[in-house]
Amino acid sequence: MVESFKFSRVPQIIFGPGKLKELPSVIRKYGSSVLIITGARSFESTARGKGLFRELESKQFAIHRARIQNEPSPADIDKITGNYLKKNIDVVVAIGGGSVMDTGKAVSAMILSGEGVKDYLEGVGTKVHSGIKLPFIAVPTTSGTGSETTNNAVISEIGEKGFKKSLRHDNFIPDYAIVDPELTLSCDPEITAASGMDAFSQLLESYLSDKASIFTDSLAVEGLRCISMCLLKAYKDGNYIEARTGMAYAAMVSGITLSNAGLGVVHGFASALGGYTEIPHGIVCGTLMGSANRKNVDVLCKEHKIKNALIKYGIAGKMFIDNKGKSDEYYARAFADHIEELITILKLPRLGDFGIKTEHADKIVDSTSLKNNPVSLSRADLLEIILNRI
Ligand code: NAD
Repeated sequence: MVESFKFSRVPQIIFGPGKLKELPSVIRKYGSSVLIITGARSFESTARGKGLFRELESKQFAIHRARIQNEPSPADIDKITGNYLKKNIDVVVAIGGGSVMDTGKAVSAMILSGEGVKDYLEGVGTKVHSGIKLPFIAVPTTSGTGSETTNNAVISEIGEKGFKKSLRHDNFIPDYAIVDPELTLSCDPEITAASGMDAFSQLLESYLSDKASIFTDSLAVEGLRCISMCLLKAYKDGNYIEARTGMAYAAMVSGITLSNAGLGVVHGFASALGGYTEIPHGIVCGTLMGSANRKNVDVLCKEHKIKNALIKYGIAGKMFIDNKGKSDEYYARAFADHIEELITILKLPRLGDFGIKTEHADKIVDSTSLKNNPVSLSRADLLEIILNRI
């Protein structure tokens, strides 16, 4: 039975090892004046980066540069848009992890007006963006966030009144996503683990979401299959290009499924924690995935009426667990165990390692939303999930 659904557009996608070489010709479609945003461990110091900049210079592009060292704040975005407001930029390119891609996405959205981005953030500002922006090309160098295919940029401010919120509009879906898994070969095991668990949680939460459709499910299932086959391989051997390629695909697809189906409680926590203290987003998602999914499965097994989500846990579980011929409940529970084992193997830190203490749990739960979680969780359930990982 195919139920009604809505699906927003995807970027033009160029995917595969070595595809970075197509970037100059894609930039040329939009003009010759390009603002390129990169990250802290600078891409331009790598052989691929040097080669790209040499080629752009030899082809007479006017290149403007900006760098972002961390997950972006409103001040970071406003500084870059202020610097390039009147520079007649034709196209913005972001080459980096989610922080860099979100910076590029937000800059492409704000650079035409030069207004402060904070006023346009969901749940923070009151202004509504028109969606008019500069063309934007996203080039991921981590396999995690899927920002190369999403309609939002996550912007945070840390502190007492901190927040981690999105600038969102369907027009902000990048015009192009150039996904070259070779760019992720330099990710160390810690970054591979954290970003890989981000993609995993995005795929799983959008698959289980109460907003999921047959369309997003078909994408999420193949994305989850790539995670089951490639995450540990990429973690153990960073040079294994087939595993890096599988993870790059999983991450890219997770952006499409999250944009169209939404996310669950793990991302509700990530939003609350992201404004609270400086913890890498992938670590928050990864470290909480075990206790959050165990709680979801426990509640589902008790409330037999919510069968669909239990069946989906079973389908996902079968991809990760060898044992044949068991019940949905068996696979769902074994899957929750497997996620916890994975967190140990990947050595994901606990929230306590970033200064979160048990006395902070109440305040974090106050601002945690269930989003599109497949089951309703009580305050006590949420406290248990977070206390388990402090
Ligand atoms: P990141 O971009 O913050 O990068 C993490 C670290 O990896 C940085 O130190 C960076 O320099 C380094 N790095 C990046 N590429 C590398 C490479 N190829 N080799 C070696 N080091 C490399 O981390 P991330 O997990 O990619 O992105 C996290 C951000 O993305 C958060 O701000 C999060 O909120 C956001 N996010 C956005 C969306 C979205 O839809 N827009 C979805 C999920 C997360």
